[in-house]
Amino acid sequence: MTTPTSPRTALVTGASRGIGAAIARRLARDGMAVAINYASSADRAEALAEEIRQAGGRALPLRADVARPDEVRNLFDEVERQLGRIDVLVNSAGMLKLAPLADTSDALYDQAFDLNTRGTFNTLRLAATRLAEGGRIINVSSTTLALNLPGYGAYIASKAAVEGFTRVLANELRGRRITVNAVAPGPVATELFLKDKSAELIERYAKMPPLERLGQPEDIAGVVSFLAGPDGGWINGQILRANGGLA
Ligand code: NAP
Repeated sequence: MTTPTSPRTALVTGASRGIGAAIARRLARDGMAVAINYASSADRAEALAEEIRQAGGRALPLRADVARPDEVRNLFDEVERQLGRIDVLVNSAGMLKLAPLADTSDALYDQAFDLNTRGTFNTLRLAATRLAEGGRIINVSSTTLALNLPGYGAYIASKAAVEGFTRVLANELRGRRITVNAVAPGPVATELFLKDKSAELIERYAKMPPLERLGQPEDIAGVVSFLAGPDGGWINGQILRANGGLA
């Protein structure tokens, strides 16, 4: 049953793999019907949906490039048509490419801002009017904002904008009982983090937090589950760093 403290339908962007897939799996386990958004990994999204269905849950894979407003509008229409009004929106779709500022091409800049920033903006703009009263919005930022690591300029800037949207939208949704927060993970063992890194570099990152390991997608999914669930209802307009104490 839909109540303000137990939302029913969740849309998770970038949910075909990595952190988004773990979030979709977890929210389904929490009892929500989940829309699994992806851009190109149709097979992986369908396999995850099937896994959730086998476990007795409800899941719907839906392709949409979140950087495109028209596709995001269709995505919202389709989720509402097939699963009902959206209670929980999680913006996990994102990309990371590294380059020192001096070597950051226009194309890399556009890619980072189109997906990480505009992709989040596109869903937030619709969610502001279409999310169910009492709903939850959870954006995904990054602990790299606290580290200012060389090579992360475009990525950090694109995620700083996401944190800005998070705080402002929380204020704009006054009176609707909708919370807007962001989770800012440290290094998490997914393709985004692991690709193009040597075993030594990965080990160095793993040793950085006092808890001395990489995050796992399930660590982040647990935080999202809390923010989306009944116990997270009093957290609003916050950026939660989930990183084992890294920063
Ligand atoms: P990932 O494993 O590379 O997964 C990225 C997901 O985004 C995939 O499901 C991908 O779908 C989807 N995606 C890519 N382009 C898209 C588009 N245009 N429209 C819709 N979906 C799109 O990445 P991840 O590590 O899970 O990262 C998830 C989020 O966490 C990102 O926002 C990232 O910045 C953030 N984060 C990650 C880490 C980390 O260490 N991993 C740390 C801090 C923050 P397809 O497979 O269909 O392309």
